[in-house]
Amino acid sequence: MAGIKRILVTGGAGFLGSHLCDRLVDAGHDVICIDNFFTSQKSNVTHLLDKRNFELIRHDVTHPVWLEVDQIYNLACPAAPGHYQYNPIKTMKTSVLGAINMLGAAKRCRARVLQASTSEVYGDPEVHPQPESYRGAVNPIGPRACYDEGKRAAETLFFDYHRQNKVDIRVVRIFNTYGPRMHPFDGRVVSNFIRQALAGEDITIFGEGSQTRSFCYVDDLVDGIIAMMNGPDDFTGPVNLGNPEEFTIRELAERVIDLTGAGSKLIFQPLPEDDPKQRQPDITLASDRLGWKPGVELADGLARTIEWFRSINLDHYRAPTPNY
Ligand code: NAD
Ligand code: UDP
Repeated sequence: MAGIKRILVTGGAGFLGSHLCDRLVDAGHDVICIDNFFTSQKSNVTHLLDKRNFELIRHDVTHPVWLEVDQIYNLACPAAPGHYQYNPIKTMKTSVLGAINMLGAAKRCRARVLQASTSEVYGDPEVHPQPESYRGAVNPIGPRACYDEGKRAAETLFFDYHRQNKVDIRVVRIFNTYGPRMHPFDGRVVSNFIRQALAGEDITIFGEGSQTRSFCYVDDLVDGIIAMMNGPDDFTGPVNLGNPEEFTIRELAERVIDLTGAGSKLIFQPLPEDDPKQRQPDITLASDRLGWKPGVELADGLARTIEWFRSINLDHYRAPTPNY
């Protein structure tokens, strides 16, 4: 990476954002983290607070912010279905107004700005695995739409600011990522299964567990995001980032039970509306243009995540609060 930069990370206290801040601070950059702590805890970044090159600002990205930076990673947005459906109107505002505010800041500072988009732009995909050229099958009025359509609108804004105002953009479409610092009560499948297994509770499989996901370990994903931010000048993306190894949800549950040694039973609950049946990234583009591919196997990543879940005190975590 050429030279020390001033870097803004929105959503920097969240699961992915805090790992990204760690890496950028370690590399010597001046890092400003913005977060409203809607779905995260200050504890994710307290270890950075005494570093001379880290600054934490409590701020909501739906409001403009006036800062001088060279790069912006726009990660602020609730990401787990339970979190983003908690206040769907706010979720849409965060995606759309957050994108407008960060694109405006990038335009003014001539900064490069990266959008954390998502595999959810493909909805419940009819094409498998999903390449970037696939336009998706999203239900615009369903319970997941606030997130999926919010992220799609944000991608539109990124490309319109690029075409109209020459803003230097990067768009990554992140597939299911897991690891230490996931919110233990976010309801996502990896955090739920590990928390349930460690507590000796039943493991809740939605539907028959035959739906698939492809799980990427957080360290690999952060490598990919940083590679994209500092990648070729002409490469805006969108680019898929994820681990193409695909598992059924039932297989995931069995792996978690094996690795934790839990005596948990599998129980089956109704499948949520619009739950995608399959999901697997085609990462040819990331591999060709960025030389990136993930390296951490599911068993290894799950073992590291389980170790972290064993180390935390669940009483220190709270559910998201209303945020209108
Ligand atoms: P997370 O919920 O842990 O992190 C999101 C962070 O954004 C939290 O710290 C939250 O408090 C903050 N935030 C939410 N609304 C905000 C607002 N209005 N103003 C300021 N801060 C706000 O989730 P994550 O998994 O770390 O996701 C980070 C980003 O990556 C999100 O944009 C998400 O859509 C995207 N993403 C994540 C995954 C994944 O599997 N983890 C997959 C696809 C996309
Ligand atoms: N899931 C499950 N049990 C749980 C939580 C989730 O079976 O306790 C399923 C969910 O229905 C979905 C998959 O696991 O099919 C991944 O869910 P998650 O919320 O992690 O992310 P998504 O990829 O759906 O956004």
